[in-house]
Amino acid sequence: MDIRNIYCVGRNYRQHAAELGNAVPEAPMLFLKPTHAAVTLEDGLLRLPGGQGEVHYETELVLLVGRSYREGITPDELFSHVTVGLDLTLRTVQDGVKAKGHPWLAAKGFRYSAPLGQWLDYPGESALSELDFGLDRNGVNVQRGNIRNMVFGLAELVAFTGKTYGLGPGDVLFTGTPEGVGALRDGDELLWRLGSRTLGRATVSMS
Ligand code: ZN
Repeated sequence: MDIRNIYCVGRNYRQHAAELGNAVPEAPMLFLKPTHAAVTLEDGLLRLPGGQGEVHYETELVLLVGRSYREGITPDELFSHVTVGLDLTLRTVQDGVKAKGHPWLAAKGFRYSAPLGQWLDYPGESALSELDFGLDRNGVNVQRGNIRNMVFGLAELVAFTGKTYGLGPGDVLFTGTPEGVGALRDGDELLWRLGSRTLGRATVSMS
């Protein structure tokens, strides 16, 4: 599956915005990751950059676009697949670039900063809203979210992103993280899931 644009939504869950001391935006707040950030990690080693401060996990529901955007298209028409992924963030670097007003790329766009689980067929928005997504670290659940709690729902994200930037087959949308983000450590065992299904596993290796 060839991935094209990787759109990520920031501050789309109130309690996560609050835990980082950020205000909830008035329109969807989007940023991009390079395609080289994406790596499918159904069962693997997650190699992360060391020596740059904290690397945080942000567990997010991730949608794959299967059709071209047109005005009025619904999420159920647009998306073809779903998985759970991590929007990995060099948090110390991000605090630095935010303070300077610099772009987020250095903090959010490094190689392998977008590990993805196994793709599932997109089941429709109402079925998805019955499924919590989450991350376990070393056997302990650290994040749990549901798209019902998003500040901007799927229809708003599709309309805003498609109209403003464009959406087409191969584009990927990270829909934002719920509360509970934290720093990864060398040797951490990660497991992420959607509903009762495990979609990815990885061992963290900090170089
Ligand atoms: Zn995020």
